[in-house]
Amino acid sequence: MSDEHQQHAHQSFETRAIHAGNTADPLTGAVVPPIYQVSTYKQDGVGGLRGGYEYSRSANPTRTALEENLAALESGRRGLAFASGLAAEDCLLRALLVPGDHVVIPNDAYGGTFRLFAKVAERWGVAWSVADTSDPASVRAAVTPRTKLIWVETPSNPLLGITDIAAVSEVARAAGARLVVDNTFASPYLQQPLALGADIVVHSMTKYMGGHSDVVGGALVVNDDALGEELAFHQNAMGAVAGPFDSWLVLRGIKTLAVRMDRHNLNAGRIAEMLVSHPKVTQVYYPGLPDHPGHEVAAKQMRGFGGMVSFRVEGGEEAAVEVCNRARLFTLGESLGGVESLIEHPGRMTHASVAGSALEVPADLVRLSVGIEAVDDQLADLTRALG
Ligand code: PLP
Repeated sequence: MSDEHQQHAHQSFETRAIHAGNTADPLTGAVVPPIYQVSTYKQDGVGGLRGGYEYSRSANPTRTALEENLAALESGRRGLAFASGLAAEDCLLRALLVPGDHVVIPNDAYGGTFRLFAKVAERWGVAWSVADTSDPASVRAAVTPRTKLIWVETPSNPLLGITDIAAVSEVARAAGARLVVDNTFASPYLQQPLALGADIVVHSMTKYMGGHSDVVGGALVVNDDALGEELAFHQNAMGAVAGPFDSWLVLRGIKTLAVRMDRHNLNAGRIAEMLVSHPKVTQVYYPGLPDHPGHEVAAKQMRGFGGMVSFRVEGGEEAAVEVCNRARLFTLGESLGGVESLIEHPGRMTHASVAGSALEVPADLVRLSVGIEAVDDQLADLTRALG
């Protein structure tokens, strides 16, 4: 892993995305890693492993290619690929927390992340409290002597809140806690949390990394070898690994991550501008807008503002649901980050699990995952759907 690290450390992101981990297949010279759809490997005498591979839960060559690529993309030392984003999060929690520990979680986060803490980890004795992570003082106030992790999602899902990663990493360091950043919305092309002081990066690779709405996967990336070993031990011990075909799909998606993100940024910026001036829209959440409270921090720590836009409409929940139902090019569906545009109602869909909690989202909120179709077609569809 460290040879791979050194080889790509000087290269720009786009080059790393295409080449890191993608070494030519030693058997055939195939220029992309083949799908090693295999569970076990012949040994030359007991313990005589030919290529270091023993059993595909522990390691598989296609997954290794993706894991080396992930480490290079986040400028980390170790990447680990899982069956889903939540499997990655679960591995992290169980590897690093014991009963009695405490975690600070954001007041705006993916509903499934909240559910993992509130409905699963809590049963195992892990305490949590909620902070407004866009305000480092709020994070500091939520820390207890047992705080082991501070969890940040930036931009956040679904309200596009921005957290100053460098500032919160100082709070974490002072508290002796580790900082976890869910980098799903930004992708490593737009934001490099490890370089800003985070200890662990989490991804739902289902989103921008895969990029084509055809695979579910998750990742952890760290820049500390001992921590990487600890997580890899738990990845194997608990077993929710990414399969070879899923790893291959994500590797393929990542090759175009930079060009896709550039287009997502452009289209989302145009759509946010249109929504701001639309008479039926009461509020627009997009960090690229100059009056977004996190705009300056986002401009400092991100290369672009991303492809996610949320907005509230006049007429309350029913009006928001109607907009979702009327859209055509924007497909009504959960998830995000694919080349195709999606629209959804977070209150009834992705964030239904946070109803009644501190993370509850406004009922009149609509969330867009702005795809890379022609922006004029996207604008026409939304204008029609808003009526
Ligand atoms: N983190 C964020 C920001 C997400 O949006 C999601 C899923 O929507 C997850 C984590 C969980 O990932 P997965 O659905 O791949 O388990």
